[in-house]
Amino acid sequence: MPVTSHLPGWTHTYSGKVRDLYVPDGSPSTAAHGDVVLVVASDRVSAFDHVLDPGIPGKGVVLTQLSLWWFEQLADLVPNHVVSTDVPAQVAGRAMVCRRLEMFPVECVARGYLTGSGLAEYRVSGSVTGIPLPAGLVDGSRLPEPIFTPATKAELGEHDENVPFETVVGVVGADTAATLRELTLAVYGRAEAIARERGVILADTKLEFGTDPTTGAITLGDEVLTPDSSRFWPADLWQPGRAQASFDKQFVRDWLTSPSSGWDRASDSPPPSLPTDVVARTRDRYLDAYERLTGASLTV
Ligand code: ATP
Ligand code: MG
Repeated sequence: MPVTSHLPGWTHTYSGKVRDLYVPDGSPSTAAHGDVVLVVASDRVSAFDHVLDPGIPGKGVVLTQLSLWWFEQLADLVPNHVVSTDVPAQVAGRAMVCRRLEMFPVECVARGYLTGSGLAEYRVSGSVTGIPLPAGLVDGSRLPEPIFTPATKAELGEHDENVPFETVVGVVGADTAATLRELTLAVYGRAEAIARERGVILADTKLEFGTDPTTGAITLGDEVLTPDSSRFWPADLWQPGRAQASFDKQFVRDWLTSPSSGWDRASDSPPPSLPTDVVARTRDRYLDAYERLTGASLTV
């Protein structure tokens, strides 16, 4: 799916797997006092580090609206990058004008439950990013307390790598590392409680912070607490010891790894196009997550 070709007044600067960034025409190359950036969420969906075809209609709107809702829930805990939702008509609903931050090259992950790369690490070492955990935990186990398990940001197409806290100290300094950990766990704690009230388990989440060159403040950027950056599980179906049902692109992953896709994940070949029903069911999952968490419905 191509990047939205031209947005009047904005220059395209970057595209990740899901989002496209624009700066106002004529902006300098690095963030300076008062600069803004337009963060546009596309309908692109990625799985196993591949961007898939086709996209999920409405996904960009869901990610953006859910992030905006969460930023509000968290506003008293941490400053965020949102400036306005007054955006070009072509990207209405799926873009936000944000303060342009100097991003820290650290994925700030909080986990309250054990799964994914955390579980894989635990099975080898009994710890996650150097944090020792009790014996006997299984896929989906609740941890004794939430933990900060940072990762270094990988280049496009590469896996992020879990790293010990000391590595973050080496990259951003001891004070900033401590603040990132504290803010990440505070955001997780708040969000986990809100989700729980709505029958949803927030198993883990990934945040990205940056420095606001105008205020100097460590500021929450990127998207927050979406099904792309977090694992949300329906609480009534939670059962440690197996993979959990989840509000995300589970259908995409399940289909890609099933015999019906005919795709060999270990091969270099790109994944096949997604069938219509997988696209529709994935779209429903994203909308369902939005509605359960916010209690509002979304027309996309
Ligand atoms: P990946 O495809 O692995 O997710 P990515 O994280 O680089 O790579 P996206 O998430 O699609 O790609 O793009 C969002 C990018 O915008 C990220 O690089 C993120 O760090 C950056 N970003 C988010 N908010 C801001 C901000 N306020 N100022 C500057 N950069 C930002
Ligand atoms: Mg990203």
